[in-house]
Amino acid sequence: TVSTPSKKYYVHTGADLLSAAGEIAAPLRGAGQALIVSDANVAPLYARRVVDSLEHAGFRPTLHVVPAGEQNKNMRSLFDLLNRMAALRMIRSDTLFALGGGVVGDLGGLAASLYMRGIGLVQLPTSLLAAVDSSVGGKTAIDLETGKNLVGTFYQPDLVLYDTETLATLPKEQLANGFGEIIKTGMIRDAKLFDAARKPNLGAAEIAGIVHRCVEIKRDVVRRDEKETGLRQILNFGHTFGHAVEKCSGFSIPHGFCVAIGMMIVTAACAKRGICAPETLIQLSGALRLRGLPQTTRFEADELFAGMLADKKRASDTVTLVLPRSIGSVERRKVMLEEARAFLADGLEALS
Ligand code: NAD
Ligand code: ZN
Repeated sequence: TVSTPSKKYYVHTGADLLSAAGEIAAPLRGAGQALIVSDANVAPLYARRVVDSLEHAGFRPTLHVVPAGEQNKNMRSLFDLLNRMAALRMIRSDTLFALGGGVVGDLGGLAASLYMRGIGLVQLPTSLLAAVDSSVGGKTAIDLETGKNLVGTFYQPDLVLYDTETLATLPKEQLANGFGEIIKTGMIRDAKLFDAARKPNLGAAEIAGIVHRCVEIKRDVVRRDEKETGLRQILNFGHTFGHAVEKCSGFSIPHGFCVAIGMMIVTAACAKRGICAPETLIQLSGALRLRGLPQTTRFEADELFAGMLADKKRASDTVTLVLPRSIGSVERRKVMLEEARAFLADGLEALS
């Protein structure tokens, strides 16, 4: 159960949940119109199960497919989606089901929060990254030319269902992508989770356990700070420098890979400063390598720093860095931009 000041909802993780989506959602939402938003990769694989399940529970479902990829998390897709909802004459008691990865979840969530000032929202994450991170917590967004996630809302879903059977078709790179955020979650809050994430040959049941734990941790953080005024910043561990890598690569490197690099840079800098032990960096590096994630980047400190500034949503001369103390424990530190640049340069140098 996730209880935030704005909404309380359930997150279920397990096998064959897509086929139960209608049955679980109907008592919560009432079976009205259902718009299933999905992308061109996921819809052919899983939309049928959701449509059937919703029809069976009395919903009137329509499928809306967007092209796959981050470049489609934009204003055009949002407008098309809102127009579709209007053409269907959806009303406030109707529900949008976001079936896919974080792109579909962020786009669908934003549309659900805007249309008629907010309709029902059910998140059906199919990527590991969406299951452990983006489907829970209520952040929605689209990108602008100028930058990522610049337009969005805080809008909690009414329900989240993660069907672990969707792991079967998830490309290997996307599995690693999700592990970037899982390892991050272990690093900030839970050494046991970190250990679980670096076990070789994980089966679906073990991954389900890991997802469950990640969601619990995110829930506990978001409950205490829904709008990211303080504690929620720890979820950004590895993201300050990670976003810089993402920006420099023109968003061609997947998000979880960039977070991995960002975690390595900041942890290497902290090891050098004695904020964490050198062993922490070694353990982090080992876990990332095992999951097929990168350890460093070819971009240079100056380029990355420029990328970091471009990503900053507020103009100020400080930035909050999340620094590792040991596996499972971090601290937040507000530093001047110059100091952040020193962390970045030191970390990169230590990794080269
Ligand atoms: P994505 O939605 O692009 O999915 C990655 C790829 O995997 C896509 O090609 C998709 O079609 C495919 N895919 C997804 N599930 C599949 C399955 N089961 N089988 C086969 N293919 C499948 O990207 P993502 O990594 O899931 O999410 C990244 C997005 O999430 C970014 O836009 C990021 O900003 C956002 N995000 C949001 C939050 C938040 O709190 N709202 C948190 C983290 C990330
Ligand atoms: Zn992230």
